[in-house]
Amino acid sequence: MHGLFGNPALSSAEGFQKLTKDVETEAYKLVDQITNNTGPKDRSTVALVDDLSNVICSAADLAECVRNIHSNSAFASAANESMRAFTNLVETLNTNHKLFFALKTSLKTEEHLLDDVDKRTIGLLISDFEQSGVHLPDKEKDEFVCLSNEIFQHSSNFSKNTDTPSKLTVEEQKEYGIGPLVDTPYPHTSDPELRKLFFNRFYQHSDEQENALRGLIGARHKLAKLTGHESFAHRSQLYSVLGTYENTKNFLEGIIKTFSSTVEPELNLVKEAFHGQDVEFNPISEWDYSYGSALYRQRVYGFTGLLSKYFHFETILCGFEMIVKKLYGIRFETSLPVKGEIWDGKVVKINVIDENSNLLGTIFVDVDNRDSKLTGDCHYTVRCSKQLASGEFQTPIVVLSLDACDSSIEIENLTLSPHMAETFFHEMGHAMHSMLGRSRYQHTAGTRCPTDMAEVPSNLMEFFFNDLRILKLICKDSSGRPIRDDEAEALIASRSLFMGIETLQQTHYSLFDIEVHGPEYAPLIANGKITSTALFSELGKKALPLIGHGDNVAWPHRFSHIGPYGAKYYSYLVAKAAASLIWEQCFREDPFSRKCGLAWAKVQSYGGELPSKDLLGIALQKAPTSADLCEALHSQYSRNMELLKDSSNV
Ligand SMILES: [Zn+2]
Repeated sequence: MHGLFGNPALSSAEGFQKLTKDVETEAYKLVDQITNNTGPKDRSTVALVDDLSNVICSAADLAECVRNIHSNSAFASAANESMRAFTNLVETLNTNHKLFFALKTSLKTEEHLLDDVDKRTIGLLISDFEQSGVHLPDKEKDEFVCLSNEIFQHSSNFSKNTDTPSKLTVEEQKEYGIGPLVDTPYPHTSDPELRKLFFNRFYQHSDEQENALRGLIGARHKLAKLTGHESFAHRSQLYSVLGTYENTKNFLEGIIKTFSSTVEPELNLVKEAFHGQDVEFNPISEWDYSYGSALYRQRVYGFTGLLSKYFHFETILCGFEMIVKKLYGIRFETSLPVKGEIWDGKVVKINVIDENSNLLGTIFVDVDNRDSKLTGDCHYTVRCSKQLASGEFQTPIVVLSLDACDSSIEIENLTLSPHMAETFFHEMGHAMHSMLGRSRYQHTAGTRCPTDMAEVPSNLMEFFFNDLRILKLICKDSSGRPIRDDEAEALIASRSLFMGIETLQQTHYSLFDIEVHGPEYAPLIANGKITSTALFSELGKKALPLIGHGDNVAWPHRFSHIGPYGAKYYSYLVAKAAASLIWEQCFREDPFSRKCGLAWAKVQSYGGELPSKDLLGIALQKAPTSADLCEALHSQYSRNMELLKDSSNV
């Protein structure tokens, strides 16, 4: 009988109890070896600490995936219980001073054994320990623990309500003939009053959310100060590509400057869509912009939804394989999982094999759109790659979850929307980053690098997807007929529409995220001197003055990323810009270049073993500055505008 992910102990839900016990026993055995210096003599302290984190993460990451998407509730709740135990275990170990001390001392006592990778990993691990305040004097440590708990509490209180629908009054329901709930700011309706009502009601002020946000920002600011940083926004940039708060601000302000001229021409298209209707344009309101741009897109490229017939899941998967085969010399062995290896549902198993027939790792793609999935369209690293004591590599396991297939459809007949197909490419980009990972330590394996760098390989796959030559190769209908040139061109062009405004919107959100955590505004927000809404509105006037939100729109109260990303939301823009530079420099001329493919695979194989800036430096021969990244976004915009012109006769 196969157990979950090949683990015989997990052939039943009860197995999670045994797994938890085994992990605890093994973890404490390693802690003992590390702190009493009784481990194998040929293994350094950092290697043993990584073994320890591997023992815990391999089980905890698996449990995290299972509790979120297993189709059997007994497994999901058993995994949830395990997760609770693992979280406790990690918290206890992170505040274990002996462990911290052993690791720190090893920098000196084992210096002769350590190379740059060891030293960097020790630095990262020490910084993780320090996140728990283990290094502080007792009084400050207590304060640190208190603040960390406050942050956790405010953050979870805040995120609980970011999705809660707003309500309409009985009169409003009667007047518009609709139900009581407002669960989107953008209803697709031609009634301008209703658009305004929905937007303003969805983003109405909530005292509860403002208080949670105020508490979160205040506690983060104190914690940053306590650990010697000017603000939480400064603290968050420690390992990022841009490196400092100032560089990040320069990057975002640079985007605002370079993109400001893109807004008017795009708004003219919206005007065209509203032809003959009474819509205010000085400035246009966000709700009207959103509706008008959707209208224009639909009118000009409305038929792109019909292109799903070319996005047959199996063909898209083969298309992706063709790309990685040409680039990296890697092939996929696709099969249906054996009973028990994974949950019941529509799941495809992919063994990833290199040119020498070695198994690099395994990807499970779960396309089932079922209620028992708590999350969709994302990936889970169930096991990281890592060099084991034997010298061999632990093979990574990744689960990719897409909400793509309804119960009435068989995988063989599954077609994806163009957007879903692009998401598939993005998530497979993450998966390949894990598969190619050959770092010494699991702590830095594959996607386990800083957020901005982790999003580069996935964003790069979107560039492959949106390339005309590639679309024509991988998109075929059921009779094998490839997508027509004009259809593929229109598809790509439609995705480029309003790119200037969208970039500025993302910049506005990123700027809010960095400033609300920054030295100037965090204290004001924390003391209630200004509201998050006022700050958001002020920054909006700077980033996108031609689109108005109204001064009372509490957009920040719905900003779910603020908890998990705290002052790093802008990472997506950096990743997109970096991916664009790599695409231009290495792949645009020849998207199947084996030479460039292998070089890029090598960069990915480091995971977070090297600083992100160095990794980009290797990929591009020169590490990009904030100005280079800003320029990259703008050049990409200009190239897409050329495409739009070319396809405007469609
Ligand atoms: Zn991603």
